[in-house]
Amino acid sequence: MSTWLDPIEADAERARLRAGIRPDAAVPDLEAACQALGLVVVTRSLGPGRPEGIYLGHGLALLDPGGLPARTRFATAHLLAHHLYGDRPHLERELEWPWPDAHQRRASAFAACLLVGREALRARVPARVTTEAVLRLATEFQVSPRVVLRRLREAGLVEPEACPEPEDPGPPWPVAPRPGHDRVGRPTRPFDPGR
Ligand SMILES: [Zn+2]
Repeated sequence: MSTWLDPIEADAERARLRAGIRPDAAVPDLEAACQALGLVVVTRSLGPGRPEGIYLGHGLALLDPGGLPARTRFATAHLLAHHLYGDRPHLERELEWPWPDAHQRRASAFAACLLVGREALRARVPARVTTEAVLRLATEFQVSPRVVLRRLREAGLVEPEACPEPEDPGPPWPVAPRPGHDRVGRPTRPFDPGR
């Protein structure tokens, strides 16, 4: 069954390929992947009430290094998505959930697909998915257990009940189309991970 996630997952797979990440590999060096795809991520403390990062556009992003490693890594992949989709500059606050708009949702979905590739997940998931297995996978992929659970659910490797999370509210892409973007917020120009 086709879902809203499919094209985003395909974009993430293409980005992995362009960055030289094997389909069955956890992303070994995210910084190198960003470099390969044309995004410079500068690490800098962003001050009081700080956002997790700032997407500045033009191939540049700032990242606050104060978070947990898995969180910082997710934020980096999220910023990479904005770069590849040509999104508008903005501050980053809550990246895993909830998402205030469709562009944040797309960027976080891309981040999860990039960091936890479907083939890489299938190669590692045991026959019986226990809490211990989820924690081990989270360590291997260097993401939060919640991201692992989402990806397990999306890959059909656990039943939806095993991932107790609020369902997505409303239509998946509640934004007006931007110039140069289609109804679901994807650029109408060809996706170009090489920019
Ligand atoms: Zn964002």
